[in-house]
Amino acid sequence: MTDLVLYDVRDGVAWLTLNRPEYRNAQNAALTFALDDAFNRAVADDDVKVIVLGGAGKHFSAGHDIGTPGRDIDKSFDRRATQFWEHEGRDGAEAMYVREAELYLGMCRRWRELPKPTIAMVHGACIAGALMLVWVCDLIIASDDAFFADPVLRMGVPGVEYFAHSFAMNPRLAKEFLFLGDRIPASRAYEIGMINRVVPRDELEAQTAAVAARVAEKPRFALALAKRAINFSEDAMGLRASIDNAYGLHHLAHAHNALTSEDHLKGQDAKSMKKGMG
Ligand code: ZN
Repeated sequence: MTDLVLYDVRDGVAWLTLNRPEYRNAQNAALTFALDDAFNRAVADDDVKVIVLGGAGKHFSAGHDIGTPGRDIDKSFDRRATQFWEHEGRDGAEAMYVREAELYLGMCRRWRELPKPTIAMVHGACIAGALMLVWVCDLIIASDDAFFADPVLRMGVPGVEYFAHSFAMNPRLAKEFLFLGDRIPASRAYEIGMINRVVPRDELEAQTAAVAARVAEKPRFALALAKRAINFSEDAMGLRASIDNAYGLHHLAHAHNALTSEDHLKGQDAKSMKKGMG
């Protein structure tokens, strides 16, 4: 089996690479927990000052796995982010609520709190569940071919589980982003303050390395404290409470879909979603 997340340390920087390029780095549970292992490894490694997260192949990530042969939605893994019991074998709304609390919300919150600075390095598609990965990183650097979208209203849910939309951009634009579900290019994401830099595709890695190197010059503990201070400000502004509220609405939507259509995603899968994107 190939590694689902590649791990490489160079000059004080840990380079983590999502590695399911044949499925546009769609995140199944196996990949998510492999990513968690890689983040933990980077935190424990004293040679690492900064963590960069990128994707192998043509795209950063197409989001959560909703239709590859490796989709593992019914499978349980060792839980690590929450105190919930395993979701496997549960029925009704419980299975999805517990699974997503661990795999999506729990993991994302944990990664946001990593004590080392993280930089998302984005190229190609960054769709739905992929937004959660980049939004929990401290800095976001994208190449000029990158695009961002959260088209999940078509699945009958209000947005991805880590509902940071109105913090990633202003609330009016967040509504447009969700209501239309359109792709926004890196240039637009930069204009609205969602990302830090846009660079030419062939310079993405070098420019990310240059930023990471400058961050890595700073004292480790001061970086951790600066990160903690800003994260606390965001939570004081309501980020954490907003996400908790939206998580309840998200699962009302999953349950409503399950009651009124063929499944909790309103019968949508990777194929139908791709078709709808045009
Ligand atoms: Zn969900």
